Amino acid sequence: MKKLAVYPGSFDPITNGHLDIIERAAALFDEVIVAILNNSAKKSLFTNEERKAQIAPLIKKFKNVKVDFFDGLLVDYMKKTKANACIRGLRAVTDLEYEFTLANINKKLSPKMETIFFMPSEKNTYLSSSVVKEVYQFGGELKDCVPSNIDKALKKKFKK
Ligand code: ADP
Repeated sequence: MKKLAVYPGSFDPITNGHLDIIERAAALFDEVIVAILNNSAKKSLFTNEERKAQIAPLIKKFKNVKVDFFDGLLVDYMKKTKANACIRGLRAVTDLEYEFTLANINKKLSPKMETIFFMPSEKNTYLSSSVVKEVYQFGGELKDCVPSNIDKALKKKFKK
């Protein structure tokens, strides 16, 4: 039976840190779905459609990765897609508390649900979508931290 993993997140926007995790998951699972959370309560810089269009060309090189949206509970999306595990990234101990809570709540909701954590390479450890947005907002650029389509999209969004 094929092993499917769901990698949920905001991806607002996707960074090299997310891609680092996707690459690791793609090497271990038969199939990976990058699942963009449709969360109207969380204000995002890019729309869901923009995020999906940004991610699509970046995952083309992985034959077993696709991108999708989901809303509502992650456990319901995982049941719908018959996923075996949920993938999350751990940058530092600071991520642990939040991720630990999330993984435990999801297990409470769906006892069979496994969360698997991947660590990125050291260079991506300090990288987050929020830090990237903050830098571009004030006219800076982080070309080593985001793919070139994201660098362009951020500059356009902040009209650099
Ligand atoms: P969320 O809003 O769900 O935290 P994000 O898009 O910020 O969504 O992140 C999705 C997942 O990817 C989270 O598990 C987060 O810890 C992980 N992640 C984000 N950036 C990195 C990075 N630089 N290295 C490793 N994991 C990361």
